[in-house]
Amino acid sequence: MKYRRCGRSGINLPMISLGLWHNFGDIDNFENARNMILKSFDLGITHFDLANNYGPSPGSAERNFGKILKEDLYNHRDELIISTKAGYLMWDGPYGEWGSRKYLIASLDQSLKRLQLDYVDIFYHHRPDPDTPLEETMMALDHIVKQGKALYVGLSNYDHIQTKKAVDILKQLGTPILIHQPKYNMFTRWIESDLLNLLSEEGIGCISFSPLAQGMLSDKYIYGIPADSRAASKHGFLQPEAITKSAVTKIRRLNRIALKRGQTLAQLALVWNLRNSGMTSVLIGARSTHQIEENVGSLDNLEISESELKAIDEILSE
Ligand code: NDP
Repeated sequence: MKYRRCGRSGINLPMISLGLWHNFGDIDNFENARNMILKSFDLGITHFDLANNYGPSPGSAERNFGKILKEDLYNHRDELIISTKAGYLMWDGPYGEWGSRKYLIASLDQSLKRLQLDYVDIFYHHRPDPDTPLEETMMALDHIVKQGKALYVGLSNYDHIQTKKAVDILKQLGTPILIHQPKYNMFTRWIESDLLNLLSEEGIGCISFSPLAQGMLSDKYIYGIPADSRAASKHGFLQPEAITKSAVTKIRRLNRIALKRGQTLAQLALVWNLRNSGMTSVLIGARSTHQIEENVGSLDNLEISESELKAIDEILSE
């Protein structure tokens, strides 16, 4: 594994981290989930990312991870960076989502119980809340850190203007933001215009989620939708309608560039994502240990030439 410094902080993160959004819930095979976590750790993946609502059912990914941690990785807690989040709908009534102090503090307490932990390493606000004053949300994050229930805080899905406001408030409170978690991949590049610059100026790390566009940036959809894919799963967030003819044409062409480099398209997509040194880590999902091994293999060739980048841009802009 290779590690990168997370912004201007004391933390190094593995360049590939594992997220537990899909395939770790109580509808999934627990032994497969355990094998994926242990394989990841053996490969040097020291960062595991969760959220209150990951499952299904919501909360079950945290519960399963807590069990694996206790049974298999108990002596390795200090070698791990474990994150969780709150922001999306988690429980009924007016206090079960968004960004109030009431919700964030209660949600983290619930997460810690499910994870069987005293603290998480990073606690994120999962999405900006248009109605709660930003000061309230940031003061709740600060409070959580000062209580020792999280060591660091992060933001996810905030645009650069919202991020700047949050950064300023948290700086005043004395709790700097460690990391931002935006969606970023060859098909979704909104962070390139402003957010990445802001993060670098402010010394904040960045970890991109869905770097494989939920699996589309691999060779799996070139000849249709396989049964063992997220697009075919009734619990998956990737709709089959997203696999359009035009997307498949691009995927085929990108795949050719990858093969010329001696990589798979999934590997190329990760190398492309990490080409900017401000990208601390890519946050992959996986359904098998094989996928994790393949993805970590991308780090064997991180060089990407100007002509390859240009060819990729041309394919994506069509
Ligand atoms: P990816 O874009 O990496 O997609 C992962 C999926 O791609 C896998 O489940 C698998 O799907 C497929 N895949 C992975 N490796 C390969 C490979 N080598 N070859 C072929 N297919 C492959 O990431 P996710 O969308 O899963 O997101 C990753 C993490 O990011 C989440 O677990 C979560 O922690 C975080 N996240 C955060 C969000 C936020 O709002 N902050 C939102 C979404 C995610 P298949 O089942 O088809 O094999």
